[in-house]
Amino acid sequence: MTLCNTCDEENSWDQFLSYIKKRCSQTAFGNWFEPIKVLEITSDEITLEVPNIFVKEYLLSNYKDDLLAFLPVNQKGEPAINFIIARPKSVSEGEKENKSRASSGRIDSFRSNLKLNNNYTFDTFIEGPSNQFVKSAAMGVAARPGQSYNPFFIHGGVGLGKTHILHSIAHYICGKNRKLRVQCITTEAFINELVDNLRNKSVDKMKRFYRNSVDVLLVDDIQFLQNRVNFQEEFCNTFETLINQNKQIVITSDKPPGQLQLSERMVARMEWGLVAQIGVPELETRVAILQHKAKEKNMELPNNVAFFIAEHIYNNVRQLEGAINKLSASSRLLNLKITEDLVEKTLREMLQHVPDNKISVEHVLKSVAAVFQVRVSDLKGSSKTKDIALPRQVAMYLAYKMINGTLQGLSDSFGKTHSTILHACKSVKKKVQNNELLRRQIGIVERNIIS
Ligand code: ADP
Ligand code: MG
Repeated sequence: MTLCNTCDEENSWDQFLSYIKKRCSQTAFGNWFEPIKVLEITSDEITLEVPNIFVKEYLLSNYKDDLLAFLPVNQKGEPAINFIIARPKSVSEGEKENKSRASSGRIDSFRSNLKLNNNYTFDTFIEGPSNQFVKSAAMGVAARPGQSYNPFFIHGGVGLGKTHILHSIAHYICGKNRKLRVQCITTEAFINELVDNLRNKSVDKMKRFYRNSVDVLLVDDIQFLQNRVNFQEEFCNTFETLINQNKQIVITSDKPPGQLQLSERMVARMEWGLVAQIGVPELETRVAILQHKAKEKNMELPNNVAFFIAEHIYNNVRQLEGAINKLSASSRLLNLKITEDLVEKTLREMLQHVPDNKISVEHVLKSVAAVFQVRVSDLKGSSKTKDIALPRQVAMYLAYKMINGTLQGLSDSFGKTHSTILHACKSVKKKVQNNELLRRQIGIVERNIIS
């Protein structure tokens, strides 16, 4: 194998580039081919340094035939390319290297345009099993932008904290690194900006801004890009430019990438990095969120009331917040103590389900007793033998699941604490996963209760 400095191979990459340049858009060329460096070229292999794995995949999946035509070919008939992924340069390293960078004055004005909610920080984000993963990944991204997960895609339903997490990332980066230029924008604002710039014929300026002047791009609610085909392409180009410079991108959405009606190219790009879901918080987390929000308002929130609210408002944190605000206002105005009664009166229209009186605890106990062949009095008692303890747990589980009452109500009926009931529910849910008989027995009880 000889190093070839004089023969044709030397120019083969350049020839390939000039051939490609005529066949793809300037943007695609800038995004995909310009960042590639030739490290070595011999008669039987070429070594290329690419900024990330995506560039390699892009080249091989879109230009294989052209590569074969211009570059050395191996025994398998594949392009003989040795790809080396460049060591990821962190956004801040890139920053240090770039001496001609904007002065800190410009950064300040850049940041003053950043519209962030000051309450949305990692500190005020209460975590639980449903959002822990997203929060810790977000903290990783904020600590090392461009180096951990890129892009980072967060999806989840309305009011579950996506915007809160996005702004937390922005606050953290701005607080820690004075030089990084963070742009946090809603998809709607991005589209509006693009429309304005198109009207004013200043699109190039906008493109330059996003592609050359942003170190961290945070985009909220990408679902608004659905059915906006023209804007998708512009967004995608910006995305590719940034990601190939290892600039951090974080995107939020109400659905995972594959369920969005966006071009295949967009979906593929968004799936490149880490896709994480933010879920509906569990009861305990909802209670913790309520208590946190109440504390912020200097409001005394008794535990049983917090549980009552959390049981009735279960799929939207924004509504939990609304409930606290409403309660705090009415208790202050009317000078009333905060009780379940007050909650029922003030929040009636917010509570998600009214108690279903058709099914009673007695009803559940009788059906469980019949199927598991035990006595109702045993279920109400405290015997710890397995034959009784398991059906008792099943009764608590079914009562919790089927009666839309409160945990407090069940706690009174069973003479057990909240945590014993919650523990029973968890334990039964776990057991049915690999106990077919138990699953069937529970199914029979449920059918008996309903019919
Ligand atoms: P999304 O963007 O997912 O619709 P937001 O981020 O706007 O939701 O959250 C709605 C409200 O709920 C915000 O005021 C936010 O601070 C609050 N919130 C959501 N999740 C949490 C949490 N885990 N801890 C504290 N507050 C939360
Ligand atoms: Mg939001």
